[in-house]
Amino acid sequence: MLNIIIFGAPGAGKGTQSKFIIQTYNLNHLSTGDLLREEVRLETELGLKAKPIMEAGNYVSDEIIIGMIENKFRDNSMANGFIFDGFPRTVAQAEALDSMLLNQNTNITAVILLEVEESELVKRILKRAIDEGRTDDNVDSVLTRLRNYHHKTIPVVDYYRAKGKLLQVNGVGLVEDIFDQIKEFIDHSRYQL
Ligand code: ADP
Repeated sequence: MLNIIIFGAPGAGKGTQSKFIIQTYNLNHLSTGDLLREEVRLETELGLKAKPIMEAGNYVSDEIIIGMIENKFRDNSMANGFIFDGFPRTVAQAEALDSMLLNQNTNITAVILLEVEESELVKRILKRAIDEGRTDDNVDSVLTRLRNYHHKTIPVVDYYRAKGKLLQVNGVGLVEDIFDQIKEFIDHSRYQL
């Protein structure tokens, strides 16, 4: 199995690179942001709870996120593996993911970190607000999301860096060039197992 985590601040291009990775390796896409937006759209109990939290740019509780991932993980076929996009975002989520994978006799193959400087991130997100109309793509929410990313998610990146599975890539440039670097790293990592 091939299990990939993609990290990056909001606007770093996780969704774009995930699409390339999924096509190339035929993986299941698990994006907690997409799963949450679907719950909001369907106005489920979970969605109604998550909506104001997301709009303010805060993190939804670990309990909700881990429960949601466990359900998806159980439903999906385990054939090729997963790309985790927007998850794990806290150390507690990373620990839960480790034990979920261990239960299936598998683990994380490679972790990708897309790095983009903050002024570029803000520019991209505000453009996306116009193109896609995401209700959390406003200045206040963006700044809160960036702060949460630095405080809560960077420690998770460090957790994987310590395991020697991390590739840091410059997220500014041609999407194809960025993907080439990611592909090389994944191919290298998967045959090291
Ligand atoms: P972005 O990376 O641009 O913030 P996402 O689509 O990944 O966008 O997530 C949107 C929002 O959903 C986040 O700001 C947060 O409120 C919530 N969210 C998504 N994934 C998680 C997670 N793993 N833990 C907590 N909250 C999450």
